[in-house]
Amino acid sequence: MTSKVDLRSDTVTQPTEGMRAAMARAPLGDDVFGDDPSVNALQEKIAAMLGFEAALFVPTGTQSNLCAILAHCQRGDEYIVGQMQHCYRWEGGGAAVLGSVQPQPLNHQADGTLALADIESAVKPDDPHFARSRLLALENTLGGKLLPMAYIEQATDLARRQGLARHLDGARLFNAAVAQAAFLGTEARAEARRIAGCFDSVSVCFSKGLGAPVGSALCGSVEFIARARRIRKMAGGAMRQAGGLAAAASYALDHHIARLADDHALATRLADGLAGLDGLQVEAPQTNILFVDLVGSARDRSEALLRHLASEGIQATGLYRMRFVTHLDVDAAGVDRAIAAIRGFFKD
Ligand SMILES: *Cc1c(COP(=O)(O)O)cnc(C)c1O
Repeated sequence: MTSKVDLRSDTVTQPTEGMRAAMARAPLGDDVFGDDPSVNALQEKIAAMLGFEAALFVPTGTQSNLCAILAHCQRGDEYIVGQMQHCYRWEGGGAAVLGSVQPQPLNHQADGTLALADIESAVKPDDPHFARSRLLALENTLGGKLLPMAYIEQATDLARRQGLARHLDGARLFNAAVAQAAFLGTEARAEARRIAGCFDSVSVCFSKGLGAPVGSALCGSVEFIARARRIRKMAGGAMRQAGGLAAAASYALDHHIARLADDHALATRLADGLAGLDGLQVEAPQTNILFVDLVGSARDRSEALLRHLASEGIQATGLYRMRFVTHLDVDAAGVDRAIAAIRGFFKD
């Protein structure tokens, strides 16, 4: 039996042997009392890595973003955000539903950025007609795309001048940092810190490319994290002996950052392998997410393609626009099987 190649998401990874061992030996306490040593160690590690005073370990990126938006904003405030960003589009409208914080969504430019002029004109004057503009939320990577560093600096400077707080949904911050470091010939951790340094708060997922089973961290000032901790309690509370999960995340920070470059190389290998097929438009990947559009006569064949891939043991998602995500549990042989299966489908 050949194994499955799961390209649906980088969330599907299984903990490695080393990670399982770290989880098994993690010292535990009760994190609601604040005395789980493994949780505390993780929070200190990620805060220090990204240059913040404090961090909060939470079960999901969704809860992390919710805590961040509600810690930055009051009822009747608004956050400026991109249409395609997770904390606007994919989180059940949580900030509005649970926090009475209104989103002000903006369209993205082709490179994923929000135009500075659009941000500026979205900031409302202090007038009772308007919600109070309080926060700019960006996301990096966004759909696998890297926000240019110069852009991040400009957008966050603009926000600061306008009196807005700045939050980064950095679910895949380390993918961004690794890609940026490869491009600049610098070091990934330094790039992660440089990106994070432009923001008042940053949320990072351990359960994506970093390969941990569960968890995200929200980073910020001591005072901000105290507010986020109170909101976390309202938003379902905290975990108790969470140290095993924190140890997995800690292990990922120690061992799984540099190797994200392998995932990026595999996404490029997949893109290259699909080049030149009639009916497929392949967008060159910048990190570990590859989008492939079905065009022309292939436009309506996405379901058939997914069925064909499933019959070959390859899992992916998409409708018109297929998404393939590389990660810790995919190797070059798996990618080559995906290429062969897709090429086979289009030969018929
Ligand atoms: C996955 C993701 C989240 C949410 O993380 P969950 O742990 O699935 O709740 C938030 N933002 C971005 C950009 C993500 O990719």
